[in-house]
Amino acid sequence: PAGPPLLVAENLEIAYGAVQVVWGLSFKVAQGQVVALIGSNGAGKTTTLRAVAGVLPLRGGRLELAGEDITALPAHARVARGLVLVPEGRQLWPRMTVEENLVLGAYSPALRRRVGENLERVYAMFPRLKERRHQLAGTLSGGEQQMCAIGRGLMAEPRVLMLDEPSLGLAPRLVEEVFRFVREIAAQGVTILLVEQNVHYTLEVADYAYVLETGHLTLEGPAVELRENDYVRRAYLGA
Ligand code: ATP
Repeated sequence: PAGPPLLVAENLEIAYGAVQVVWGLSFKVAQGQVVALIGSNGAGKTTTLRAVAGVLPLRGGRLELAGEDITALPAHARVARGLVLVPEGRQLWPRMTVEENLVLGAYSPALRRRVGENLERVYAMFPRLKERRHQLAGTLSGGEQQMCAIGRGLMAEPRVLMLDEPSLGLAPRLVEEVFRFVREIAAQGVTILLVEQNVHYTLEVADYAYVLETGHLTLEGPAVELRENDYVRRAYLGA
């Protein structure tokens, strides 16, 4: 059963200059759930996450986190409230070690005081990062870099963790691994907003999903229902 919505997006309008790419998009993310935004290349998924994170301005619409209107808040204030984005393409500091990258996720004085215990939690989830904690991030494999990026997000003690295409560019075995971690993070009580092109796996881990097509919401529903939906099966599951 879904809890009360932790994150609410109402009628988001997002543009790059004169070019509007997201039109009247509304969605809700219930506490404790994994909610997915799916859609093909260029549908506006990354754009939406960046606007929710506050790194891209909204042209219109409203955002609410735990009942608070956050529409006008700058990105750092949203992070401080627990709305944390793990960007597409990982964006680690390649010349810094794994551990230095992780510690950068603990950006505030309060988080820095808990850096030791949070590092231990991240290492417990990703033992491979612990083994490689002194290795330069730029020399990690693609899957390890993804783990490091997710781990850095966890260092900010997120209430809502937004993951942008965590499976992108990974070998099939690692794709499965990443989705397993998504499940584990959710099981620890972190609410997740997941953007993915891998619709097959996404509909297995998600509780609820929204389908975005050229900037418009075309379909939404519980993931178990979307998996059986004829249109989704034809357009996204290769049926
Ligand atoms: P992908 O999975 O390919 O990243 P997406 O659904 O995340 O797809 P977006 O990256 O949000 O899609 O892109 C949505 C649209 O906005 C695309 O048409 C894209 O070309 C355009 N776009 C993205 N970034 C910019 C930018 N910085 N300036 C102008 N247009 C942009």
